[in-house]
Amino acid sequence: MRKEQVKELIRLLNSNFLSGSPSGSVAQTGNLSTPSSLNCTSNMYVPWIIDSGASNHMTTLSSLFKTYSPCSGSEKIRIADGTFSTIAGKRDITLSKNIDLKNVLHVPKLTYNLLSVRKICTDSHCSVKFFNTHCVFQDRTSGKMIGSAKIMDGLYYFENNFKNKEAQGLSGMSYVPVRDQIMLWHKRLGHPSFQYLRHLFPNLFKNVDCYSLECESCVLAKNQRAHYYSQPYHASRPFYLIHSDVWGPSKITTQFGKRWFVTFIDDHTRLCWVYLMHEKSEVPNIFKLFHK
Ligand SMILES: [Zn+2]
Repeated sequence: MRKEQVKELIRLLNSNFLSGSPSGSVAQTGNLSTPSSLNCTSNMYVPWIIDSGASNHMTTLSSLFKTYSPCSGSEKIRIADGTFSTIAGKRDITLSKNIDLKNVLHVPKLTYNLLSVRKICTDSHCSVKFFNTHCVFQDRTSGKMIGSAKIMDGLYYFENNFKNKEAQGLSGMSYVPVRDQIMLWHKRLGHPSFQYLRHLFPNLFKNVDCYSLECESCVLAKNQRAHYYSQPYHASRPFYLIHSDVWGPSKITTQFGKRWFVTFIDDHTRLCWVYLMHEKSEVPNIFKLFHK
């Protein structure tokens, strides 16, 4: 691709092309109490990440709010690059059938939505239990499970079975893990190298080492056969080592209708025997004949 074409592709990808699939990623270790590693791009589906350290719920999407009060712009929080980002507004969001979030901060610059464990335990009167693959939200009185989250790339993502698209702002989209998105683009763009993809989608590669990615098709297609190491020649005696090869079928037959041949070459004397055959299946019998 020429340089201008690459630029154009990046421009396309950054505009409408990518809307609908999430981009960017969040720091994968440590807690997210400072929603710092986050940078928002545009109006797209944004998953909720469970954050045991956050003091408030935060979202990047204003469309999720069922009630909304704009802020003056003086309230700020710190984001990834160390700069402070404005809280545009706050109020309530219906997260799922059983969970309403109160006083959620609207921070347009975020990439991900953050679900504060402290806040949800207080407001929804529930407890949150963490397991190595998932976590569950349980009502403290009835013990009923009111929500769950699944772990992906080291983070717990809230699983939403609540089919209110408007409240979700996701038009039927479901969250796709970053690695799957990278593999999808890798396939869509004709299997370019992952270093090249990183150049096109720096956001997707924020926390993914491009050398840790592997495409089975690429490995199979680009693999070369390991070469044979040439063996040093050992002086031998006649008939100590015989090389053999079968060839055919030839388009042109001999005057006796034979289309195949098998050769036996003695390694020591280089003497060669050639047997013509009607069919390949005659080789075993010919070998027995030769061996005698
Ligand atoms: Zn590939």
